[in-house]
Amino acid sequence: MPSTERQERLREILSRIEHAAGRVGRSADDVHLIAVSKTFPEEAILEVAALGQRAFGENKVQELVRKVDALGSGTPEHPMEWHHIGHLQRNKAKELVGRVALFHALDSRRLAMELQKRLEAAEETLDCLVQVNVSGEDSKYGLEPISLDGLMDDLMAFDRLRIRGLMTLASPVEDPEDVRPEMARLRTLAETVVDRFVDERALLSMGMSADFEVAIEEGATHVRIGSALFGAR
Ligand SMILES: *Cc1c(COP(=O)(O)O)cnc(C)c1O
Repeated sequence: MPSTERQERLREILSRIEHAAGRVGRSADDVHLIAVSKTFPEEAILEVAALGQRAFGENKVQELVRKVDALGSGTPEHPMEWHHIGHLQRNKAKELVGRVALFHALDSRRLAMELQKRLEAAEETLDCLVQVNVSGEDSKYGLEPISLDGLMDDLMAFDRLRIRGLMTLASPVEDPEDVRPEMARLRTLAETVVDRFVDERALLSMGMSADFEVAIEEGATHVRIGSALFGAR
């Protein structure tokens, strides 16, 4: 893709974020764009970082490690931070330590235990979101909403994990309006469950290329956008 095209795409996404936030009286500063760079090469990432984009998301640990170790935290003019947005196997927990700004897919106590152990050894902490399956679909990953309260309670024992909010992967639909109830459900869960356990207002990671405007209208603080920015995978 020619670089001017990617610049144009980024500009358009940022403008759509601003408008969606404005429609519900929110500031675009409260909505963080995570550029989902999975499958795209480092050159494409550097190009987007040079346009001023800071946060990048990956969903496979091996690819994350390769890219973080190559690109790190960017340069003083073009700082970069990394988000792990995909499922994490327990035996890969150690790979996140010291590498990511936010882990979006914490979904079990057993994984939390493993992360705690690795973080303790490294004297590090990790900001995490709990992934909830609000789609009602038979999705492989994400906690059932009914289990959230119990898990939150358990997670409070892990002092190396900072639980900051919730994440969801909405159902794939043609009309983004169809996922509005799922987004609203995640927000309600954050307000009724998570806010009781955390000091700061819960973060909400929801919304992708096809539905990020609806997500912002429903309260998303982090939108994870891949194909609309980088192109089809
Ligand atoms: C790939 C991915 C995205 C981005 O999807 P697009 O439709 O390309 O914007 C967002 N979140 C997760 C968890 C992903 O794996």
